Amino acid sequence: MDCVFCKIIANEIPSVKVYEDDHILAFLDINPIEKGHVLLIPKKHWESLAAVPVADSADVAVLEELTYMSHVVSKAVTRTFANGANLLQATGKCAGQTVFHLHFHVIPRYDDGSTPPSFESGHGAYSSNEERDAYAEKLRKEISKVLSEEAII
Ligand code: AMP
Ligand code: ZN
Repeated sequence: MDCVFCKIIANEIPSVKVYEDDHILAFLDINPIEKGHVLLIPKKHWESLAAVPVADSADVAVLEELTYMSHVVSKAVTRTFANGANLLQATGKCAGQTVFHLHFHVIPRYDDGSTPPSFESGHGAYSSNEERDAYAEKLRKEISKVLSEEAII
């Protein structure tokens, strides 16, 4: 299947991962709206949120975990480098969806006077790979801290 996110899951193309388990992967957006912008994806290929078949309780459990992990990532970003965050999911081209594998964006927000917040890809471009990797490292540490504090999955 020609899906960029399935290729990331299969390690066929590189990504900067911040969390992974059997069902879910979280990695940095390549063209961040703000620094620390994370994408959360299920390992199963579903086109969008609307396309998830909920007949199987295992699929519902993955949706629940995606929602829970968006809480964890939002908590991690606001406890480390950000002042707030947006959760965004686009279903369909008219909603701005460009990658047709379900993903939740967690977009960190900063008290830097830029209101309303930008939704422009690349607005939060990193100045270097080192800067990007430093954000990823902070996220990895804080996500695992939140998970161990909450200890529900
Ligand atoms: P959407 O417009 O909601 O479909 O978002 C797709 C997102 O995927 C965009 O923010 C892209 O920057 C991001 N993206 C596309 N390709 C990659 C990639 N190879 N690695 C990380 N993020 C990607
Ligand atoms: Zn896919």
